[in-house]
Amino acid sequence: MTPETQLHARALRARLQGDLVLPDDESWDEARLAWNVAVDQRPAAVALPETAEDVVAIVDFAREHGLRVAPQGTGHNAGPLGWLDETILVKTERMRRVDVDPESRRARVEAGALWMDVTATASEHGLVGLAGSSPDVGVVGYSLGGGISWLARKHGLSANSVTAIELVTADGRLVRVDADHEPDVFWALRGGGGNFGIVTSLEFRTRSRRSAGSSTSPRCRTSRSRFAAARSWSSRRRTSARRPRAPS
Ligand SMILES: Cc1cc2nc3c(=O)[nH]c(=O)nc-3n(C[C@H](O)[C@H](O)[C@H](O)COP(=O)(O)OP(=O)(O)OC[C@H]3O[C@@H](n4cnc5c(N)ncnc54)[C@H](O)[C@@H]3O)c2cc1C
Repeated sequence: MTPETQLHARALRARLQGDLVLPDDESWDEARLAWNVAVDQRPAAVALPETAEDVVAIVDFAREHGLRVAPQGTGHNAGPLGWLDETILVKTERMRRVDVDPESRRARVEAGALWMDVTATASEHGLVGLAGSSPDVGVVGYSLGGGISWLARKHGLSANSVTAIELVTADGRLVRVDADHEPDVFWALRGGGGNFGIVTSLEFRTRSRRSAGSSTSPRCRTSRSRFAAARSWSSRRRTSARRPRAPS
């Protein structure tokens, strides 16, 4: 990033609800850290948006200044991002809101939500999501890549339970896609990962604990034991996960 772009970046920071961290800031090393600490991420800047509007502003800024953007929820899969020179790393960890509607059994999560967040909220209503083996994996990165859960034998990939996605496109538009609106983008996102924009929220079906189906874990043979295991999995790992931050 040139010194001039850095000046503009500092001006952008003042307009965000979240933050934009630059290499000479005190919090730089913490900001650029991924869950996978073996990956030494050195982007041009780290953005920590708190709203979808923040994401729009960051994408617009990057486009106007010839920078790339790379979305990251947790950094479980940080390795494939590769060289991050001239890239703003957009970390969604401050966007962790989860809403579950028990009537429709639909969940809506912000881009930084972890599976432990969903499990804790959904289980209050006797519902489960298609979480994988690790509570601190991000719901968005997991679902966009497919997502093979404990309950995959009955319910298939997590991507197939996604009902709507909100994202910021490369031209800075905040759009909502589903089976009826931009169906091609909706199809591509579910398996195509972060290649089509920065997802700001995701909606998906949950299941009742009774209909959850057989687990891929041999230790959980009944729906009651699966549900109990899911709850304890979520709370046990909640305290041990390295990077979870409470939603602001
Ligand atoms: C300990 C561990 C256990 C795992 N268990 C399972 C499992 O049981 N089942 C399974 O299917 N997978 C599993 N995985 C793989 C995991 O699902 C993938 O690594 C997934 O990509 C992680 O998503 P994340 O958001 O946490 O990671 P990140 O590294 O933050 O994101 C990975 C990629 O997802 C995309 N992405 C993330 N956020 C956004 C966004 N807001 N907008 C657009 N794109 C975005 C980007 O392409 C990003 O590079 C596991 C991984 C680990 C390390």
